[in-house]
Amino acid sequence: MHTVTEQQLCQAVSDATKRALAIAETHLPDDVTAALQAAYASEKNPVARAELGAILENIALAEETNRPICQDTGVPVIFITLPRKIPLTAAIEEGVRDGVARATASIPLRPNVVSPMTRANSGTNCGEGMPIVHISPGDTFTLTALPKGAGSENVSRIAMLLPSRVDDIRRFVVETALEAGGRPCPPVILGVGIGGTFDRAALLAKEALLEPINDMDPFEQQICDDVNRLGIGPMGLGGATTCLAVKVKQAGCHTASLPVAVNIQCWAARRATVEVVL
Ligand code: SF4
Repeated sequence: MHTVTEQQLCQAVSDATKRALAIAETHLPDDVTAALQAAYASEKNPVARAELGAILENIALAEETNRPICQDTGVPVIFITLPRKIPLTAAIEEGVRDGVARATASIPLRPNVVSPMTRANSGTNCGEGMPIVHISPGDTFTLTALPKGAGSENVSRIAMLLPSRVDDIRRFVVETALEAGGRPCPPVILGVGIGGTFDRAALLAKEALLEPINDMDPFEQQICDDVNRLGIGPMGLGGATTCLAVKVKQAGCHTASLPVAVNIQCWAARRATVEVVL
């Protein structure tokens, strides 16, 4: 690879951010659409089936017309994998900010980002510490956009459970879904972070939402079945489909701690990964 200037790096990241957001906002990932289609095929409750039908029609229309899947276009959460040969400089975060501002104007996205205290809106979906950027080492230079809507984020929860009560993890996750009810626009996907520290558990839960949802291990399947037995149903109107999938990520933790975070994702589980082209 030729030597890249800061300006080229910033431009490449900006372009990738804009591209990833444009895909994520208008096209749901295939695994999510397939899970919604499977739920539609198996759902017996007529109201739930009608809701799932409307969701699937909405997804098809968004794709056809290149328009956002939901009016809440979320806040931009960006994950970058950085190969060793690419310098980790301020140009990367600058590129993300620029790309988010460009995507906000061109897609367009609802300007959701405000100051937490004054509630002043930047109009660009950028602000202090926003967009959120996570950078980790990788073999390829990729950028993933995970726009996160408020309806599902607002009912996410974290708890520091008793380390001797590992069985409480399952109960806490199911109770979180029960308390959330119809507010996060079910059917939901539950990202669960177990272990680490208070902050790491929340990040693990968010990262779990990046995982494909077409396979679950027995623990994830057990929680998913428990949540579906709650009968909350699509958009909270009852039915067998409350949860499409549960994805769990873990990290080691202090012997005296058991942090557990549940990041709820609505049916509009938007995520898209693109290559950063230099
Ligand atoms: S929770 Fe999801 S589907 Fe519901 S309004 Fe927010 S972004 Fe849209």
